[in-house]
Amino acid sequence: MLAHEIRAQVARGELSPLEVAEAYLRRVRELDPGLKAFLTLNERLLEEARRVERDLPLAGLLVAVKDNIATKGLRTTAGSRLLENFVPPYDATAVARLKAQGALVLGKTNLDEFGMGSSTEHSAFFPSKNPFDPSRVPGGSSGGSAAAVAADLAPLALGSDTGGSVRQPASFCGVYGLKPTYGRVSRFGLVAYASSLEGIGPMARSVRDLALLMDAMAGLDPMDATSLDLPPRFQEALEEPLPPLRLGVVREGLSGNSPGVERALEEALGVFQGLGLRVKEVSWPSLPLALAAYYILAPAEASSNLARYDGTLFGTRAEGEEVWQVVEATRARFGLEVKRRVLVGTFVLSSGYYEAYYERAQAFRARLKAEARALFQEVDLLLLPTTPHPAFPLGGRPDPLAMYREDLYTVGANLTGLPALSLPAGFEGHLPVGLQLLAPWGKDELLLRAALAHEEATARAFLKMPLGEAL
Ligand code: GLN
Repeated sequence: MLAHEIRAQVARGELSPLEVAEAYLRRVRELDPGLKAFLTLNERLLEEARRVERDLPLAGLLVAVKDNIATKGLRTTAGSRLLENFVPPYDATAVARLKAQGALVLGKTNLDEFGMGSSTEHSAFFPSKNPFDPSRVPGGSSGGSAAAVAADLAPLALGSDTGGSVRQPASFCGVYGLKPTYGRVSRFGLVAYASSLEGIGPMARSVRDLALLMDAMAGLDPMDATSLDLPPRFQEALEEPLPPLRLGVVREGLSGNSPGVERALEEALGVFQGLGLRVKEVSWPSLPLALAAYYILAPAEASSNLARYDGTLFGTRAEGEEVWQVVEATRARFGLEVKRRVLVGTFVLSSGYYEAYYERAQAFRARLKAEARALFQEVDLLLLPTTPHPAFPLGGRPDPLAMYREDLYTVGANLTGLPALSLPAGFEGHLPVGLQLLAPWGKDELLLRAALAHEEATARAFLKMPLGEAL
């Protein structure tokens, strides 16, 4: 069952929150040893399920939470040895709001360390597997969340998206994932990687389920000064008729997609045309360069954000005679990819190189935004691939630059702050293919409205459950 169907059954008294929790726990125990989507399970789940008030809007719903989002009393590792034993004394705002509406945290899902990666292979603990093919990655960095939703180990999940980490794994695992407009969901309690680019986003197997989460989580938060005062109205927007939209498609400079991705793109254009949208070819000239700017700016911010892990405040602490030895030995526990980013970040921020790299990347970011603004004068939505090809094999991207290239289509939305959603749109062999819709700033509801039209018009033909369902 989809999350909103579970919700309806619980509301009608046909299913209890405890029965839902038991069904999912059983399934996680059976399937997760093979998939490895979870790092930690909520041991108090059944106890909490017994106490849920059934008339709350999210009563009976379980959420798998990416392990870089703080959960009170539940270990939050960010996929890192540095936080291996960290138990937050508070909930992230997004989590607190979901709980207040009756949802329960099922467990914490695997990710690339601090969100740095596109496959979960940079997790300090283990890689997760793709439920469609266990020899392939589920994507990353929110790979555990995507795998959990695709295998129905959880009806809903939270991820975080700094450069594509909600959308790319959603696409690799055949589910929906939303990166909201920057600031729509509070970042309070999200372990910081690159603060100016990232946010928390929902993952699910239907657009209506994304809307359930967004209505509960989004909105102004006094604990996050960058949060937006844009009250969410997602479920309401889904009931409105689809306006006659103009849909842009970018082709120039974006070649090298696999045949399945090209086919899905053409098919989706047909579906949207059938729904009355006007398709138009548009140009976003700087998009192909976004990747280069992202891999300067994200490491720069990471090198600053990660300075707090020195063994003196929280997380694990290594032994050492002198303070500097403690700091050095503690920070030696960062994984290779994290160290690489801290080095790149400090380099591009260092005196003499700052102007050549960081400043130019920031200027480029402004240009990319201006181009997007102009583009959204011409069209209301933009369609792009989410990734150039479906899920790649575990171990298939040993070269860091090859791994970075996976993010070609996703980083644009992060550099501009625009909302973007990945929807299941086809298959290449047995592997799911996702496509991405982008909307103007703050128009997240419109994005979901269009994605729902696609979901309904295709009668969920692209939603496959390779391992069956929990309920
Ligand atoms: N793959 C990108 C990176 O490694 C994006 C990660 C993310 O969105 N957290 O930075």
